Amino acid sequence: MLATVIHAPRDIRVETVPDPVLSTGGDAIVKVVASCVCGSDLWPYRGVTPTAEPHRIGHEFIGVVEAIGEDVTAIAVGDFVIAPFYVCDNTCVNCRNGVSTSCLNGGWWGSDDRVGSFADGGQGERVRVPLADGTLVVVPGPVRDDEVPGLLTLADVMGTGHHAAVSAGVSTGDSVAVVGDGAVGLCAIIAAKRLGATTIIAMSRHPERQALARRFGATHVVAERGDEGVARVQELTGGIGADRVLECVGTKESMDQAIRSARPGGMVGYVGVPNGGPELPVRPLFNRNVGVNGGVAPVRGYIEELLPDVRSGAIEPGLVFDLELPLADAAAAYAAMDERRATKVLLRP
Ligand SMILES: [Zn+2]
Repeated sequence: MLATVIHAPRDIRVETVPDPVLSTGGDAIVKVVASCVCGSDLWPYRGVTPTAEPHRIGHEFIGVVEAIGEDVTAIAVGDFVIAPFYVCDNTCVNCRNGVSTSCLNGGWWGSDDRVGSFADGGQGERVRVPLADGTLVVVPGPVRDDEVPGLLTLADVMGTGHHAAVSAGVSTGDSVAVVGDGAVGLCAIIAAKRLGATTIIAMSRHPERQALARRFGATHVVAERGDEGVARVQELTGGIGADRVLECVGTKESMDQAIRSARPGGMVGYVGVPNGGPELPVRPLFNRNVGVNGGVAPVRGYIEELLPDVRSGAIEPGLVFDLELPLADAAAAYAAMDERRATKVLLRP
């Protein structure tokens, strides 16, 4: 089959690799219907994280179950399924505590699982899914083709934006500022509105993303950053800052922006993958009673909750995809996102 391999920074190739096979009784083989490139895939692409040797890449996919092991009970051949961006059993104590990203038996796409069998990357034609009963969520059929982009966001970005909002404690009537206008930041706006926020401030400098932010529920757009950005958020929130701030980037600058945009007693929900070493300024947090909560988003636990709203069209996270390419053009997809010509690229095998 064909799958995407990263060889080195800016060297993405679609190559013929071995077909996946069932290795344990709990496995499934999924034929990928759609996958995509994540903002976090750009870290190895740009060389920010090293690529020691060529390896498979991609962690967001949806597809149809082609085969299952003899122990699989929750899914069947022919089911349309969503895979979260990681493997989990959905039964261990960490999964039950809502932190399935810390599953005691879990793993990551594009690497070996706990028993030493390979779990394929998502950017390919097929994926061997370990712990299929826990990892996969069935979408009751039939699934229309125009539902594909929205369903694919439940593999990562929509659930991750939701996790930012949940971690910040967004509830009815809140003012919320969102730092970051990538796919996760845009989905965080959807999540904030869905949870009842009434003032939603999108911090964005890009006209197309500002327009999508407004469509998703942003009531205000702030293009300024730093001191000016903080001042603008305060102006829009009665002079005090936002009740909740959703940090969806992961840099020192974005975390600083988020913390300073929160009102005294406010909460920052953070989901941006930390790169470049953001550290928490404990004394300023202490002085203003600002909390920080969040981390790698346990999206597996959010899929069932968000799925009905995606299918009904009540929320439209699929609009974050502004480019669709065949899997064979994965290298062009990475380049488009790297050069900010696309917010998020959908790949079809
Ligand atoms: Zn678990």
